[in-house]
Amino acid sequence: MKRYILLFSFTFCLGFILSAQTNEKPTRKPVFDVHVHVMKVSGQGAPLCPWFLSDMPGGDPADENPPAFFDSDCLDPLPAAASDEELQEEVVGRIRDLNMSMIAFGDPEILRNWIKASPPGRIIPGIGISNAKSMSVEAFRDSLEGGFYKVMAEVAPQYQGMSPSDPSLDPYFAVAEELNIPVGIHMGTGGNGVANLTRPNFRASLGNPELLEDLLARHPKMKIWVMHAGYPLMEEMKALMGANAYVYVDISGMIWSYPLDEIHAYIKGLVQAGFEKRIMFGTDFIMWPRMIETSMGVIEHAQYLSEEQKRDILFNNAARFFRMDKSQFDWPVAQQ
Ligand SMILES: [Zn+2]
Repeated sequence: MKRYILLFSFTFCLGFILSAQTNEKPTRKPVFDVHVHVMKVSGQGAPLCPWFLSDMPGGDPADENPPAFFDSDCLDPLPAAASDEELQEEVVGRIRDLNMSMIAFGDPEILRNWIKASPPGRIIPGIGISNAKSMSVEAFRDSLEGGFYKVMAEVAPQYQGMSPSDPSLDPYFAVAEELNIPVGIHMGTGGNGVANLTRPNFRASLGNPELLEDLLARHPKMKIWVMHAGYPLMEEMKALMGANAYVYVDISGMIWSYPLDEIHAYIKGLVQAGFEKRIMFGTDFIMWPRMIETSMGVIEHAQYLSEEQKRDILFNNAARFFRMDKSQFDWPVAQQ
């Protein structure tokens, strides 16, 4: 009888030790979200329907109410986090449960809180500059040399009505090039009616990926990724990536907003053109936590992608671009 008790205790202890160990190890293959906005929550935001831009009927400037920017009227809208605490809990929970890493930029205080609450190294902070008036070149250099910020993002001159090759931004890019800091530049769209409903300086034409050519020529050692993959200008995106071997893209924003068939056609087009090793997963996360798994599902369910291509897009390409040490993700490299 004693022997059984002893055996039981031993088995129980072993089981406990094993499960404790298992709990600490990631149970999922790693995911890298290269495009996460960090901001303070101000009140309860409206729920969001993924792929809501499937319907853009427009309107008339004489109408009393302008067309809606977002849409909450669908079967399963994504709820917004209601407080800073809830948002942090949801984000950090996903970093642990989904074995995620992320490039995150925005409110510095919230960003530091998220980093403190997350496993080490999983949140890589970025600092963006879209307009020379917002920060001096010296202050920008100090921020990067301080060592906290590892990435220059999100740079979004398109919203200011400016080309990314505008000379006023050049000294900032020169600092990033000198310090070997990767740069993320917004090239694409800005939502339904962005130019006449929300951001009057925005110009669709300034999202043309070919506008990056002069900038890249002036800074041959700078490493950039084109945020939102220059959607919807796929041919120009292919031309730029073809001519510039170090340019990567992220598929954030478009992945949860435009019609699913349209998103798949765009990603498939870039893969078909040979750029599968330079496409990175990103969400353009704002305040709807379930946006993360909703966006991951788009890649996981893509019929035209092999398992290897999915892993490349969800993790490997970003790990390579940001020069991460893959061993820290605690998942056998062979299975990635
Ligand atoms: Zn953007």
